[in-house]
This record gives sequence, structure tokens and C-alpha cells, in this order.
Amino acid sequence: VHEGILRRQSARESAARTYARSLPIVPVRARGLTIEGADGRRYLDCLSGAGTLALGHNHPVVLEAIRKVLDSGAPLHVLDLATPVKDAFTTELFRTLPPGLADRARIQFCGPAGTDAVEAALKLVRTATGRSGLLAFTGAYHGMTAGALEASGGAQDVRVTRLPYPQDYRCPFGVGGPRGAELAARWTESLLDDTKSGVPRPAGMILEPVQGEGGVIPAPDAWLRRMRTITEKRSIPLIADEVQTGVGRTGAFWAVDHSGVVPDVMVLSKAVGGSLPLAVVVYHEDLDVWSPGAHAGTFRGNQLAMAAGAATLAHVRENRLDQRAADLGARILGQLEQAAKEFACVGDVRGRGLMIGIEIVDPTGEASGPTADDAGNPADDTLLGAPSASPLPAAPALAAAVRDACLDRGLIVELGGRHSSVVRLLPPLTLTDEQAAAVVDRLTDALAAVSR
Ligand code: PMP
Repeated sequence: VHEGILRRQSARESAARTYARSLPIVPVRARGLTIEGADGRRYLDCLSGAGTLALGHNHPVVLEAIRKVLDSGAPLHVLDLATPVKDAFTTELFRTLPPGLADRARIQFCGPAGTDAVEAALKLVRTATGRSGLLAFTGAYHGMTAGALEASGGAQDVRVTRLPYPQDYRCPFGVGGPRGAELAARWTESLLDDTKSGVPRPAGMILEPVQGEGGVIPAPDAWLRRMRTITEKRSIPLIADEVQTGVGRTGAFWAVDHSGVVPDVMVLSKAVGGSLPLAVVVYHEDLDVWSPGAHAGTFRGNQLAMAAGAATLAHVRENRLDQRAADLGARILGQLEQAAKEFACVGDVRGRGLMIGIEIVDPTGEASGPTADDAGNPADDTLLGAPSASPLPAAPALAAAVRDACLDRGLIVELGGRHSSVVRLLPPLTLTDEQAAAVVDRLTDALAAVSR
């Protein structure tokens, strides 16, 4: 069965298929952290639907919420009509929003993916401000539809001004730490204030509080607060893309909560649907300038996803799973940092909460990968500090070998980063201490295997 399904899918499906290519497994059953394949093998799933499964697979409260809707005879599809299920979801979501937004918030149901909500957010700020330019960051990932792609790192669009995202490792200013973040903030400020640069006043700034696909890069709280001040002073709406970081993942309910920053717009998906497709934009009521039908769509009211989402949000909130993610994440990070000392191929271990990345580098320094300069060094060197020691080149092939070695050991991880050289862990927030230890053991063993 297993081989047959894999063969047929690879013959019939688009060459663009991704996870199915790197993870040749056929999941047939799943519970919590564990996936069982058609071949009977069991895996610890630290990909969690690319960060979607806050409560792991088939959590009882999620299944119960879905069953309740099914058994009630409620309609499964009624466009964006008001329903008790939608009411309950919205009430629960608003309960979790940062103070300052919660009581002045509006919600726009989009659907069904994160990228749809990003589109809505971009359209919203452009409509509200009457401006079209956008501020976005190096290494960003916002989705695969046209507007979201344009805001993502690497894309080139005349309307997008690309700004440096602060990072310790491969810091574009060569210094890292608070000084690197300060230089990144000053870069943004001076660009916006430079009347000669030709950067028109933008419609908004979009950022991830922790870059996920970009290689798990947490932004310092102080930098995030600077971005808030910079945008507020210039009346530029700030959009926080919390598609991946939301619902407790980073150790706070929303990643912006760490810094106390209140964005004007929040883009939410993945875990807010409790493992079913759901995407929403939440924003300050002052921006609510939509006219009816200005942003429509058929699938904006998935009742099952709203029920699963409401149950997930409530379970995370009531059980303080965000705090659990903070504690457990810090412990795993510490253990991985300790273990990494033995492996020359680990360049960096970083993360926040249960969003963890391990950057794999070529210890010989010979890989044709990037060096520090490749991380998007801004051209103007007036802001540059003294360069720090240059990190070793990224090693995508070696990172893929780590991922494969993990799979051999029954551990599912994926790669990220602009050179696909970062091993990413996004385990469910329900991870037990024993499971966390097993994940660290298997990963350490996989690193040892590729280091031989
Ligand atoms: N924004 C962020 C921060 C993401 O991580 C992702 C997905 N990885 C998206 C947007 C796009 O979401 P989707 O894949 O559901 O379109």
C-alpha cells in the first residue's frame, strides 16, 4: 500500500509538490505528536502541519468540537452568515487579543489559507491609507499568492521597500546582538526620513515577530517596539503576520505579546483553525473602511474550522499552554545548544518557545553556500559596525541529510531558511517531557550520524 500510494502520487502530482517529496511517508493515523504510516512505522511529528497543530493531531477537544457541530445538524456552509459557531469563535478569539486591540477590533474572515489573509491585510491598509507602497523585510515569508509573494523576501516589486530584519547569526551589519538590531532599526528610520531616497510614504509595514520559513529568526522585543514607534510616528499601519507564531507557539499567546507591541493589523491562520483551514485578519476599527463586498470570497465561514479553532484557542488559554511552550522551548533549546557543541556542522541554535531552528553549516568552510555578506548586506556602509567573525557557509545538502537521518529515526522535521539549511522544529504545545526528551535524543543521534 505504502509504496503504491507514493509511486502513484509522484507520477500524477505536480512537480511543485514539496513535503511529499522530502518526507516519503503515507500517514494513515495520528494522535498527539505521533503519526503512523501505512507501512506501520510510527513517527514523532515535529512539523505539525507546518506549525498548524497547536494541540497535536486529533486532540480530543478538537474532535469533540467538530463532532458537536456535525451532530447538531448545523449547516456546514453558509457563506459569511452569522451563526452560533462563528459567534463563539469570534468571542474566544477576541478574548485572546492584545489589550489595546481587543476592545477596538474588527475581524474579517478570509479563506481558507494564510496567504488569503495576507492579501486581505495588504488590501486593507492600501484601501485605508490610499497609498500603495509597502515596507517588508529581508527573509520574510507571507505566502504564495501574488501580493503575499511580493511582500516576501527575495521578491522584487517596485512597490515594496525591503528593510533589514535583525538577526544575530549572519547579521547584515556584521555585529549581531542588540547593536545589530539597533543598526537595523536606524537603517529603517533613515530610509523613511531620507527625502532623496524616493521611498514614498507606504501603506503599511508587514513583519513576522519571529521569521519562520526564513529560518526561525526571532526579532528582539526592543526592535519590534522600535518598529511600532517608527510606524506610529509616521501614521503607517503595522501588520503583524502571526500565521505561524500565533496561538502560544512562541511562548506567549501572540508573539507580539512578548514586547507589548499592539499592531494595527494581525494576520492569523494555521493554529486558529485547530487543524482545519481558517484564516482571518483582525484590525483596529479605525481601519475598517471596507465597503460591503470590498473583500468577498465563497469560503469565509467554514463552520467546522471555526468550531475546531474556538476549542483550540480556549484550550491553549485555559491550560496556559503558551507558558508551557515557553518553559519547554527554553529547555529544549538549552539541551540542543549543549549537544550542538559536539557537532561542527551546527552553526547556530535559536528559537522562541516551541519554534526552534538549527542552522547547518559546512565545517570545512568549502561549501558553495553563502557567507555573512550574502545575508543581504545593505549597500550603505555608514551604518555598519565592526564585522564579527564570518559564520561558516550554509550547507543545504548536509541539512537535508540531517532531515533524512531524523526520518530514519522516526522523527519528522523540515528545512527552512533562505538556503534551506535550517532544521526546523514546530512540535505541538501538548508535547510531554518524555516526548521532548525523545525528540532531542533522535535529533542528536541524527546529527551524530551525518557528522561521522
Ligand atoms: N505567513 C507566514 C508567517 C507563514 O509562515 C505562512 C505559511 N508558512 C503564510 C503566511 C502562508 O500561509 P498559507 O501557507 O496557509 O497560505
